[in-house]
Amino acid sequence: DQLTSQQAIDLENKYGAHNYHPLPVVLSRGEGVHVWDVEGKQYYDFLSAYSAVNQGHCHPKIVNAMTKQAQTLSLTSRAFYNDMLGKYEKYASEYFNFDKLLPMNTGAEAVETALKICRRWAYEEKGIEENDAQIIVCENNFHGRTTTIISFSNDAVARKNFGPYTQGFIKIEYDNLAALQNTLEKNDNIAGFLVEPIQGEAGVYVPSEGYLKAAKALCEKHNVLFIADEVQTGIARTGRLLATCGNCSCADKSCSGTPDVKPDILILGKAMSGGAYPVSAVLANDPIMNVITPGSHGSTFGGNPIAAAVAMAALDVVKEEELAENAYQLGELFREEMNKYIENSNIVNLVRGKGLLNAIVINDDEESETAWNICMRLRDNGLLAKPTHGNIIRFAPPLVMTKEQLLDCVSIIIKTLQEFEN
Ligand code: PMP
Repeated sequence: DQLTSQQAIDLENKYGAHNYHPLPVVLSRGEGVHVWDVEGKQYYDFLSAYSAVNQGHCHPKIVNAMTKQAQTLSLTSRAFYNDMLGKYEKYASEYFNFDKLLPMNTGAEAVETALKICRRWAYEEKGIEENDAQIIVCENNFHGRTTTIISFSNDAVARKNFGPYTQGFIKIEYDNLAALQNTLEKNDNIAGFLVEPIQGEAGVYVPSEGYLKAAKALCEKHNVLFIADEVQTGIARTGRLLATCGNCSCADKSCSGTPDVKPDILILGKAMSGGAYPVSAVLANDPIMNVITPGSHGSTFGGNPIAAAVAMAALDVVKEEELAENAYQLGELFREEMNKYIENSNIVNLVRGKGLLNAIVINDDEESETAWNICMRLRDNGLLAKPTHGNIIRFAPPLVMTKEQLLDCVSIIIKTLQEFEN
């Protein structure tokens, strides 16, 4: 029997751990840029499961690949070989221009994997004394919620009473080259620098032009691995295939067509599968990836045949439908339209972002409920988004959106904001 929204919410509240604070809307169907609640009301999805559903909900090509593979072979574990994994590893390694891929399932797992690879590389290749390797991370980062990852988070809620924390991390200010240079010069035990090309969860903070490139050069100079966490920014979201890389056919004029910044270790997740299935990956070249030896890392589900089939289809869609180019064009249009509104707005301070990863900052203090209330009203008006926290609302629709749909969304957003103007 179909539940009402309230019944579904009551069930989750009674039988589920309360580890989230969802917007009260209960979804039961999705197609392209739209989702529907159990009462049949249609919404624009303006979050895409935190940038996972870049290819749109239930993309036929991805659904086909998944159902076909599910009827053939779903899981072998890595105790045996399967006929899909090698094909996928070749496909994705060539697609992103790396020697090798290590398959995982979630973003946090892939981050953990990258940290392990980096530390081992530091001991075995760089010659740092055992147990002494440090990894530089940024203030206000978000890389997931495992015990090690929260050890270097600033998020008090995510950390509260989960100690003792993992050691070996040095935190510096984001988008601050001098801080990076200082830390690299003062310490000879640095193994890597872990960075988000745009800080998504923190509120869509785009670093200064040239920051990533200069940071990579500093890392190279000090023989330190540059680790890019593109779980949220990757797979065409920011108007390029990768936020660190111009390796795509997008229309971004500043994109050179060759990698702008080539990470030593690249972390991907979310849209690797178009949100259809948990798929994450770590990519690196041989001297680095070869520190991983049998038994040193793994996961029962990582690299399973369904994940491999789904990811190949999802990556195909990104190229076939030129999603990077579309994200670039629509992103420019979105910010242009929003900026016109913001000029005369009392309720919105600014819009920022790249491609279709954007945020607006609400003109109210961080503790206020205004951003949440705006998202509730957006919901009533047929568009789903959520505050990252405080007074920041992130907008990340599926990249298969058309220009007409985007303009329709802009008018819903503006109409809703007008209800809050004083
Ligand atoms: N890294 C980044 C940059 C992310 O945005 C996220 C998820 N928001 C993660 C890692 C963690 O991914 P997951 O939730 O799949 O573990």
